[in-house]
Amino acid sequence: MKKKKLISHDTSTNLKKPHLVILGGGFGGIHTYKALPAWVKKNHVITIIDKHNHFLFTPLLPEVAGASLDYHSIVEPIRDLLDKDTYFIQSTVVSVDTRKQIIELSDKEISYDILVSALGSKTHYFGIPGAEKNSYILKTLDDAVNLRNHCVDLFEAASKLESSEERKKLLSFIIVGAGPTGVELTGELADLFFGTFRNQYPLIPQEDIKLMVINSGSDVLSMFDESLRSYAADSLVKDSIILKNNTRVAEVTVNGVVTSDNEIYNSETVIWTAGVTANSLPCTCGMFEVNRGRILIEKNLLAKGIDNVFVIGDLSLFPSQDGRGLPPTAQVAKQQGIHVAGNISRMLRGQNLKPFVYKEKGLLASIGSYNAIAEIHGFKFKGIFAWFMWRTIYLFNFASWKKRFKIMFDWTLNLFSGRDTTRL
Ligand SMILES: Cc1cc2nc3c(=O)[nH]c(=O)nc-3n(C[C@H](O)[C@H](O)[C@H](O)COP(=O)(O)OP(=O)(O)OC[C@H]3O[C@@H](n4cnc5c(N)ncnc54)[C@H](O)[C@@H]3O)c2cc1C
Repeated sequence: MKKKKLISHDTSTNLKKPHLVILGGGFGGIHTYKALPAWVKKNHVITIIDKHNHFLFTPLLPEVAGASLDYHSIVEPIRDLLDKDTYFIQSTVVSVDTRKQIIELSDKEISYDILVSALGSKTHYFGIPGAEKNSYILKTLDDAVNLRNHCVDLFEAASKLESSEERKKLLSFIIVGAGPTGVELTGELADLFFGTFRNQYPLIPQEDIKLMVINSGSDVLSMFDESLRSYAADSLVKDSIILKNNTRVAEVTVNGVVTSDNEIYNSETVIWTAGVTANSLPCTCGMFEVNRGRILIEKNLLAKGIDNVFVIGDLSLFPSQDGRGLPPTAQVAKQQGIHVAGNISRMLRGQNLKPFVYKEKGLLASIGSYNAIAEIHGFKFKGIFAWFMWRTIYLFNFASWKKRFKIMFDWTLNLFSGRDTTRL
């Protein structure tokens, strides 16, 4: 096998500066970088590595899939978020050797002195036969665009059919999972199908379109208070939207899903939103301790037993009291990123590292048709006010003003005209 070139960056002008490497330009990685004090940035060579060249604002992926936002609106080039003297490498991380302090990328190797790993998670199929092969997912920008295009294609194809039976076959959609992604996507698709598409395809009767949500739990959005959960479920079930609680998918086929009760639901489109699992980060010298795919970390966010590698966000398993770790959310990854930046400067000053304490800022979920639920510091909100809060909070969490204005523009335009359903 051809040996990969080793890049250390300790050459020429950066001679002798230690090398701080951040794996992943998502919520954890970018917030670590942004929170690093100027003196740390000045005295280190800093490199960010990601397989994509953009930061993705995942909470708005359902809006891209539902065509209410242009896909450019929810991404930022990572290079635009970095100072001029920070390196960015677009490449896939293959493994880490924590003993030699070398990261293996798909095309080269790179050495580090301090490492922050924030490689996130991927869709979890729980070993359900056919799920990976036969489902659409919503994890990356490509997934959202792919799903949006698929919906446009199906409506175009259905508009050419004479038979209602055949139209129904094409226009039956199943969403597996009723967590925030499943519910927000259902709301978005419902607005697209029963709003914009109803105007664009007047010859397709509403009864020919069906959207079914299959949920293994007894309630949607299980992390919310009971009153908000039932409000969300009641608001969701309208038009031709069906919610099946306490139903487990046992198999996904090209024709739809089979449940554990042997019910068969036919569909051309199964969208799997039922769970995530950490992106694996193999350690060639076997030093990461892993539980259910997540790397075990200490309270100070260092990988267990390794004193110069921090692991944060969806990839890490924080030692919480119940042993289940922290939820895989952007809020956790962002707060951990900011905390790691503080701990890196403490480490460099020879001070003790501080334990991370997660502060839940609140829960928000949109359910379509200008409707949302929110639970913030014990206060509960629902309806159009919660929806307005949801939009405002997400908008101000976005990285740059340029994109905030773009999103505001898209949303304002949508109030006066239909969604842009051009096939991309
Ligand atoms: C549709 C959707 C909606 C969501 N909504 C919310 C919400 O409303 N609120 C909330 O708090 N959370 C939400 N989340 C969860 C949130 O996106 C994640 O918890 C958060 O992104 C985790 O941050 P992270 O830094 O660990 O990983 P990420 O933000 O996913 O970043 C990981 C980065 O690593 C890169 N990467 C992965 N593997 C490799 C590799 N091998 N080599 C190189 N680069 C790699 C990826 O390209 C990515 O940029 C949502 C997630 C999805 C999918």
